[in-house]
Amino acid sequence: MINPIYKPKGKAAEYGDYAVNIYTGCPHRCYYCYAPLVLRKDKEIFHSCVEPRDGIVEAVKKQLAKGKIKGKTIHLCFTCDPYPTGFDTTPTREIIKLIKESGNNVQILTKGDGNRDFDLLDENDWYGITYDGNEMVNDNYFSCCNIETLKVAHMRGIKTWISFEPVLDCKRVLYAIVNLSSYVDKIKIGKLNYFPSDINWGDFGRKAEELCKSLDVVYYIKDSLRKEME
Ligand code: SF4
Repeated sequence: MINPIYKPKGKAAEYGDYAVNIYTGCPHRCYYCYAPLVLRKDKEIFHSCVEPRDGIVEAVKKQLAKGKIKGKTIHLCFTCDPYPTGFDTTPTREIIKLIKESGNNVQILTKGDGNRDFDLLDENDWYGITYDGNEMVNDNYFSCCNIETLKVAHMRGIKTWISFEPVLDCKRVLYAIVNLSSYVDKIKIGKLNYFPSDINWGDFGRKAEELCKSLDVVYYIKDSLRKEME
């Protein structure tokens, strides 16, 4: 494997300048997952055969040793989750160490639990979760357990963010923006792409933007949602 750290293109470019994908699959089985399509893999194989990409840690080490990537934030991951639930995530830990040692930072996005690696992260790294509104979030009970982990990261001084993309339930997402805004440094809001939905995206986008402004949260509306708001 040569140069696994790459510059994302298209919609993915809205998430970061650089990215690396660590695993061959993801067990989280989100029905809207685009990764099997991108990787031209059978869905069932993608969700059931999860292992580190062959030679990934060594390849990242070699690429970073060239010194061409410096002072950048590298996104983990686009075509997998850096914390696949139920699997050994030591390769993620090793890659974070290599990225930090090379003078770069990480931007993590997960539906799993990255708590084990918080000792490696500092105020220049980002720890983020995806919240699609599929589960209820309220003041006292966070059914979405990775929200608790996000709060821990925030308390440790790591920068935190939430990706509200895709959005399955706009009411829950708007509610989550209100409830979670004090724990995050940035939110990104998108829509559900490639699948049918009866959500009025223009209306949702305008409400979400109004809320972010009133809560004084740093936010970014993804291009696909912004177009619906025009
Ligand atoms: S967490 Fe991400 S990579 Fe994993 S199944 Fe869901 S959308 Fe796909």
